[in-house]
Amino acid sequence: MSLGVALFITAGMVVLVAAPLLTAEGAGEGSLPVDVTPLADLRRRRLVVYENIQDLEFEFKAGKIASQDYQALKEEYRMEAARLMADSQAAETLTPEEVLLEREVAARRARRKTPPVVEEYVCAECGFENPVPVKFCGECGAKITPRTEK
Ligand SMILES: [Zn+2]
Repeated sequence: MSLGVALFITAGMVVLVAAPLLTAEGAGEGSLPVDVTPLADLRRRRLVVYENIQDLEFEFKAGKIASQDYQALKEEYRMEAARLMADSQAAETLTPEEVLLEREVAARRARRKTPPVVEEYVCAECGFENPVPVKFCGECGAKITPRTEK
C-alpha cells in the first residue's frame, strides 16, 4: 500500500468518524421527535460522542487511524463531551429566577422557624408566649391585653 493510498484512507476515516458529530451538531430541532426534551437530547448526543470515542480508540488500536489524527479527534470528542456535559448540568440546575425564588422561600421558612417573640401577646395569667396576635391566650384562654396597642 502506497503512502498516498494510506493517507486517502485515513482522510476517509476522519470524515466517517467525524460525520456523526457534524450531523448531530447541525441537525437542529427539525429532525427531532417532538417529545424529546432538551435535556434528553443532550444526554443522547453525549452518548453518541462517547460511542464515537470508543470507536475511535478501537480503530486506533486496530491500526486503522494515524496517531496524529487519533489524538486530534479524541481531543475534539472530549471537548464536545465536556461541552454537552456542561450544557446538561446547566439544563438540570435552576434558572437564575428560580434560584432567587428558592432563596426567598428559604428565607421565609427560616423566619417562620424562629418567630420573633411578640411580648405584647405574652399571657399575663400563665406566661404563655402566644406566637401570633391573639385576643385570648392560646394556652389558658385568658384575655390578652396588648401593652403597647390601643
Ligand atoms: Zn395564658
